[in-house]
Amino acid sequence: MAARIIDGKLIAEQCRELTATKAAQLKTSRGVVPHLAAILAGDDPASQVYVRNKERACAKAGLHSTLHRLPADVSQQELIALIQSLNQDPSVNGILVQLPLPRHLNTTQVLDTVHPLKDVDAFHPENVGLMLQGRPRFLPCTPAGVMQLLHSTGTPIAGKHAVIIGRSDIVGKPMAALLIQKGADATVTICHSRTPDIAAFCRQADILVAAVGIPEFVRGDWIKPDAVVIDVGINRVGERLVGDVEYAPALEKAAAITPVPGGVGPMTIAMLLQNTLKAAELQSA
Ligand code: NAD
Repeated sequence: MAARIIDGKLIAEQCRELTATKAAQLKTSRGVVPHLAAILAGDDPASQVYVRNKERACAKAGLHSTLHRLPADVSQQELIALIQSLNQDPSVNGILVQLPLPRHLNTTQVLDTVHPLKDVDAFHPENVGLMLQGRPRFLPCTPAGVMQLLHSTGTPIAGKHAVIIGRSDIVGKPMAALLIQKGADATVTICHSRTPDIAAFCRQADILVAAVGIPEFVRGDWIKPDAVVIDVGINRVGERLVGDVEYAPALEKAAAITPVPGGVGPMTIAMLLQNTLKAAELQSA
C-alpha cells in the first residue's frame, strides 16, 4: 500500500494560525506586535525567495517584519554593526541572518553576535546548549518542524530507531538532540559523509530523516517497510525541486513520507514565526 503523504503545507498553516491567534492576544494584552528583522547580504536567488516567503508568512500571521538588504561585498564589521544595532533596538524581537552568507564573511562570528534572546533561528551557542540540556528557549526551526510532522503521523517515536543522514549544525545535529530528548525517546543513529554503507543503516530505520543535500541520495530499496520518511533536502534539478529521497519507490515502501516541496520547508517558516512570537513574549514579560 502506498505511504500516507505528510502534508507539511497544511500542518504549517495550522501552526501559523495558532501563532496568529497568540500574536493577536499579545497585542491586546501587552500592546506588542512581534517584530522579525531579516538580514539578506548579497543577491543569491534562492535566499531572496526564502526571505520573501518569510516576510509574507509574517504578514499573514499579523507579525511585523523588516528586511535589511546589504550588498554582496559588505564587510564583516558593517554586518556585525547592523546586528549590534538590532540587538539594541527594543522594537526588534527576532533577528534572522539569511544563510549562506557571501564567502568572505565569517558566519560563526556573525551568528554569535545575535543576542540570544533575539536568536529566533536558535543558532547561538547559548540556545544550542539550552536545547541540548532539554530546557530549550528557542527550538531550531527545521528540526522542530520535523518533530511536529512526526507527531502528526500519530506513530509513537519512543523506542523507535531513528536514522539521520547529515550532521550539519542547522539540521542533522539538532535533529538528533530533539529525537533523543526525554519525551521523544528515540534511539538515534547519525550517518554522514564518512559513514560506510549508509544503505545498511537506512534499512534499519523506523524513522528516516534525510538532510544531505544530494538529489535522491536515499534509494527506494533502502527504505525499511513501513518506515516514516522525512525528506529535508531541497535540491534544484533543472526546473524541478527534488528531495534527498527517491520519492516514487519510497512512497511504495514507507508508512508515511514528506513530499518535496510541501513537506519540511513550510514547517521551517512556521517554526520561525513561533520563535518570533516567543521572543516577543519573553522580551515583554
Ligand atoms: P549541509 O551541506 O550543511 O550538510 C549536509 C550533510 O550531509 C553533512 O553533514 C554531510 O556529512 C552529509 N553528507 C554529505 N554528503 C554525504 C554523503 N555522500 N553521504 C552521507 N552524508 C553526506 O546541509 P544542510 O544545511 O544540513 O541541508 C541539507 C539539505 O536540507 C539541503 O538540501 C538543504 O537545502 C536542505 N534544507 C532544507 C530545509 C527546509 O526547510 N526544508 C532547511 C535546511 C536545509
